[in-house]
Amino acid sequence: MKIGVLALQGDFREHRISLEKLGADVTEVRLPQQLQDLSGLILPGGESTTIGKLLIAYELMDAVRVFGQTKAVWGTCAGAILMAKSVGANQPLLELMDITVQRNAFGRQIDSFEINLPVPFLTPPEPDYHLTFIRGPIISEVYGNAQPLLSLPDGRIIAAQQGKLLATSFHPELTDDLRFHSYFLELAKSASVN
Ligand code: GLN
Repeated sequence: MKIGVLALQGDFREHRISLEKLGADVTEVRLPQQLQDLSGLILPGGESTTIGKLLIAYELMDAVRVFGQTKAVWGTCAGAILMAKSVGANQPLLELMDITVQRNAFGRQIDSFEINLPVPFLTPPEPDYHLTFIRGPIISEVYGNAQPLLSLPDGRIIAAQQGKLLATSFHPELTDDLRFHSYFLELAKSASVN
């Protein structure tokens, strides 16, 4: 299966490595025509304002919006911000998902942290998943067609899904645990059937 990783800025190489370990055929996407034949696209972590500006500069903003109407798209951290309809500030967004995010929501002192949590929808569901947050966003509102997928013990939402669209506040690409990437490949597989 051919999966793209948006490669304008951020930790796209780590996503590429995770996907290749699972046997996917990975394309680094920097041009609109590179979206052709892909079953899914990952938007990496990085700096969402920068990636948004580059999406416009590389004429990828509308192309990725159209891609996301029928194909699987997963945003991690900065990528999750780009998936949102609103971030409460003026920055370019793909606006693909019915979610609102709050950037850098964990404050300066603890803007990076790690936590082990059970993630029952992964295959296999055990053991707990090691979640890595690096100045990550909180998904502050989930409405319309989007569903909350995972929350911290205090109830703050850190993952949401809308059909084959996925947003996570954390970075599965920075662990050796491939279960989130497998989850996304399953979404991409079902999307390519439609
Ligand atoms: N704080 C970054 C932003 O707002 C996201 C950080 C990340 O992707 N690790 O874009």
